[in-house]
Amino acid sequence: MYPRLEIDLSIISENITRIQKKCQQWNLQPVAVTKGFCADPPLVRLLLSSGITCFADSNILNLRRIQNLTSQPVELYLIRLPMVSECPVITDLHIIPFVSHLEILEILDREAGKRGVNCPVILAVENGDGREGFLPEELLAASETIRRFRHLTIRGLSTTLACLSGVLPNESKIREFIQWKRAFVEKTGLRDVILSVGGTTFFSLWEDGLILPEVNQIRCGEAFLFGSDISRKRDMAWLRQGAFYIETEIVEVREKKPEWNQDPGYDAFGRIPSHQLLLPYPHKRALLAMGLQDIDDSQLYLERGHVKIIGATSNYLVIDIEDDETDYHVGEVIRFRAG
Ligand SMILES: *Cc1c(COP(=O)(O)O)cnc(C)c1O
Repeated sequence: MYPRLEIDLSIISENITRIQKKCQQWNLQPVAVTKGFCADPPLVRLLLSSGITCFADSNILNLRRIQNLTSQPVELYLIRLPMVSECPVITDLHIIPFVSHLEILEILDREAGKRGVNCPVILAVENGDGREGFLPEELLAASETIRRFRHLTIRGLSTTLACLSGVLPNESKIREFIQWKRAFVEKTGLRDVILSVGGTTFFSLWEDGLILPEVNQIRCGEAFLFGSDISRKRDMAWLRQGAFYIETEIVEVREKKPEWNQDPGYDAFGRIPSHQLLLPYPHKRALLAMGLQDIDDSQLYLERGHVKIIGATSNYLVIDIEDDETDYHVGEVIRFRAG
């Protein structure tokens, strides 16, 4: 059945091995982020059998799926700030949440206390991307309160960059973060507080030769899945790309001449249509049986011919085949590299 997603596990396996090697060299613990594939069992099994013991996801059901796949001890991080309603199950399942509010720490402390367990937590720290995290000053001001939770262990501090505002990690940012950690440890007297960074684009710090013994952990998904660092628009030379391919059938081939509209509306997703720019028409187009319900048309790459991706509706991917020598026909299967 199409559309069909093909995943080359040998490429991913090689990437995991290479990441583990580099991480060992750089004194980092790799954390595999599984939200990109909803912790799909074949990939999780591959990570487990390669020796990965730390997993992170933004969805508790995905973390639960990982837990059910192994009897080995694993660390499971919830990297989306927990909802109040999730706190009981987090303590039940021994999940380590990223937290950015004292109110949530209080609830977790209470829930852990009720169950007679300890709940390790990571404190998320805002570092310039304008998304989650305690402001560093706030964290220091609250250090006395944080130290006093009886059923919580402050496992570490985390920073996440390059997700919303395109703020990239660089030497001064990471050194600043390390300083904040030192100040926090000094003020709280806590021990074994780790620094966790993510995602994939943080690798560039070590690739550039920085020596950062204070950073203990890197959370990555894109690196082992795609071997790329999209925040810097680059493929990573020491990793392999091309693990994901998606293919589907052509369901229509025709010359098309969309009406030129003086006063165009928006597309089905409320976006300004861009295909009008491809005039002069008519052009030969092929419609493929996959759309925005299946794919992200901006992350597909055709490795042959002179074909342009025009865009996608919820049902179809529309490609312009006017300049291609191939005689495309209905029923033909077209294959794209995905990601
Ligand atoms: C998604 C995510 C990551 C992993 O990012 P990649 O760029 O896919 O490696 C790391 N940390 C957090 C908090 C995330 O949400």
